[in-house]
Amino acid sequence: MNNVAPTVSVIKMYAAREEIYPRAAKGRYATLRWVCVWLTQLVFYGLPWLNWNGRQAVLFDLAARKFYIFGIVLWPQDFIYLAALLIVCAYALFLITAVAGRVWCGFACPQTVYTEIFMWIERRIEGARSARMRLDRQPWSFGKLAKKTAKHAVWGAVALWTGISFVGYFTPVHALLREVVGITLGPWEWFWILFYGLATYGNAGWMREQVCKYMCPYARFQSSMFDKDSLIITYDKARGEPRGAHGKNDDAAAKPLGDCIDCSLCVQVCPTGIDIREGLQYECIGCAACVDACNVVMQKINAPLGLIRYSTEHALTNGLSPKQIRQRVFRPRVLLYIGVLVLIVSAFFGTLLTRTPLKLDVIRDRGAMGREVEDGMIENVYRLQIMNTAETPHRYKITVSGIDTIALVTPDEVSLAGTEARAVPVRVRVASGKGHAGSNKIEFELRALDDLHFHVEEKAVFFVPRDAAHESEDPRKHQQQ
Ligand code: SF4
Ligand code: SF4
Repeated sequence: MNNVAPTVSVIKMYAAREEIYPRAAKGRYATLRWVCVWLTQLVFYGLPWLNWNGRQAVLFDLAARKFYIFGIVLWPQDFIYLAALLIVCAYALFLITAVAGRVWCGFACPQTVYTEIFMWIERRIEGARSARMRLDRQPWSFGKLAKKTAKHAVWGAVALWTGISFVGYFTPVHALLREVVGITLGPWEWFWILFYGLATYGNAGWMREQVCKYMCPYARFQSSMFDKDSLIITYDKARGEPRGAHGKNDDAAAKPLGDCIDCSLCVQVCPTGIDIREGLQYECIGCAACVDACNVVMQKINAPLGLIRYSTEHALTNGLSPKQIRQRVFRPRVLLYIGVLVLIVSAFFGTLLTRTPLKLDVIRDRGAMGREVEDGMIENVYRLQIMNTAETPHRYKITVSGIDTIALVTPDEVSLAGTEARAVPVRVRVASGKGHAGSNKIEFELRALDDLHFHVEEKAVFFVPRDAAHESEDPRKHQQQ
């Protein structure tokens, strides 16, 4: 009989998050990241306050179903342009990722940008990395409570302003701010301000690297856009190993060491808490903070910069020079992305800038089929849905064609204010004996009187009742009458 006790091993399905205290990095890439923070936030916070043609320059007015983007007004019928814009953004991201890896994640993604802002606030209030670690280890005291309260209050204010700015893209921002101050916001405005504000507070203040590691779908599928020539952050193992502290009195011949002095600064600055010396990891967002940190160390020990650097897998395995890396940028995959992007962008701007700022929908009054009126004429009734998508008022002439003698009996001119949409009922008649029984194809044309280039045509159907057609084909009936 076997008396060996069974071994029990417990596999934990949940790993508690280890708090990361990133050290502030200084250098070329840190500066570039702050340039991205300023640029993106100037655009995001500033755009709702910009005026254009006497109105908010960028306003997605969902209630009125009109999107104002500077001089362009988009209607629900223009959804294709928004879809094209999304496709352009997606392709641009594919292209950037194929060339420069996770540079979007590291420098311009909102999660990175807001985390950078929130970490800056944290450093200003709680101090540098070691001070923050000490503070968190300390028991609660008045000083700790004051610092934590101040930090969360400033985070909350930034998050709230971010929520207000976001909703300011959908509700005129001046009115919105008055409502916020007067606490007279509607329920939806409250909901979206708090939702967006809390998402910012939670993601940038608390979740941070976990959003990139566990929640971001882009982080999951972007590896499919990488190839061996995409830029990645790499540690030059051949140069750095064996790592170890370089003591002043060490005998370099007896103890040959690589350039890495194992100071761990590259790990301390990493916002996702990884050690890039262990190789490329999916948690690496390509922020290059470790590059900056290591370059400072290399400067201090008089070693060449770039022990950690942007490079490619090909460059590492084949020892390519920076010039050779640049020469491999325009490879087939990249050229394909550029080609598709140029095509879509050209088509997008070509159609957007040459589109007629006028739309016409013709709806035939189905309740009233064609009917015979005085002099045996046949009349059909329509509703013309006219949209002046320009911001200036226009006067239009309506004409109809397709059947001999066809004409409007209602006024054939209509004026619309800028961005006005109006339903205009019209009655159309044809003389007796014209057209055939049943549906006849006709066409409405709408032409701006002050600019004859603005015109649209829309097909419709004119219905001639069978009886009326027969009567007109039988001349004896009219003679008897
Ligand atoms: S910062 Fe550079 S020298 Fe310091 S541990 Fe990292 S790789 Fe080594
Ligand atoms: S390993 Fe370097 S580049 Fe990657 S996330 Fe960490 S600091 Fe940024």
